[in-house]
Amino acid sequence: MTKNVVTRFAPSPTGYLHIGGARTALFNWLYAKRHGGKMLLRIEDTDRSRSTDEAVEALMDGLSWLGMDWDGEPISQHANAERHREVAQQMVKDGTAYYCYSTAEEVNAMREKARAEGRPPRYDGTWRDRDASQAPEGVSPAIRLKAPLEGDTIVQDEVQGTVKFANKEMDDLVLLRSDGNPTYMLAVVVDDHDMNVTHIVRGDDHLTNAARQTLIYKALNWDVPVMAHIPLIYGPDGAKLSKRHGAIGAEAYRAMGYLPSAMRNYLARLGWSHGDDEIFSTEQMIEWFGFDAIGKSPSRFDFKKLENLNAHY
Ligand code: GLU
Repeated sequence: MTKNVVTRFAPSPTGYLHIGGARTALFNWLYAKRHGGKMLLRIEDTDRSRSTDEAVEALMDGLSWLGMDWDGEPISQHANAERHREVAQQMVKDGTAYYCYSTAEEVNAMREKARAEGRPPRYDGTWRDRDASQAPEGVSPAIRLKAPLEGDTIVQDEVQGTVKFANKEMDDLVLLRSDGNPTYMLAVVVDDHDMNVTHIVRGDDHLTNAARQTLIYKALNWDVPVMAHIPLIYGPDGAKLSKRHGAIGAEAYRAMGYLPSAMRNYLARLGWSHGDDEIFSTEQMIEWFGFDAIGKSPSRFDFKKLENLNAHY
């Protein structure tokens, strides 16, 4: 047992609780339960134009139906924007970030130039060491991370193993946009830190973000949580999961008559295994769950298998 485990499920409220999200939530939930810890729910609602209250409701209903309770009140990422701004400003004071007055056009031109010269299309550092007294008038700056130019960033992942990212391929990430809004990259790091998250479990489409976020953790001198990036779920034919093949919301599964216990059992097996066992109770899942038995290859969602399993419950 690991002490004081805190996991989180951090969906963006832009739709229903889809199958991939439900599986991510389940793995976070199982890990927290296994270790007598907590699973927190953070609603990543920083994209105001795409986030809706209905989607928040749908996510919470889906989780409740599936029997995955979260601890405490759901946390709104948007509500923490002031704290994100403070951290970005503090990083400028500490010298780990800088005000960047380059316009969008200038940044695009830089990237084009780098591409044309066969270099990684990163920010060219124009404002990295320049004094803000040279700032053009009437331009609000963004805040960028002073990211390392050389060496590697290592993501030590419980599922993917040791993954190396060349720093020269990364960028002086924007932390705060010129309109004062924090970027997703900064918000996730600050929130996970403030929520005392010990384990980040999410889809492996976030692996490159993990490297970027690691740069921010290092700049802030904060401990990087343990990470487990789970391979995505594909359709039975190995193609991207389509609606016909299961990419529908929890509500739709419920309407089709699937039972929460069968769903949990099936979701657990999408990427995780326990020997040759196929049917297991939630108690058994909690007892057996660990990152070491999560596979490295994508899993395939198959309605037939779910149907067969549902018949057992
Ligand atoms: N909000 C992100 C998503 O829905 C998850 C971010 C994270 O888990 O760090 O894909």
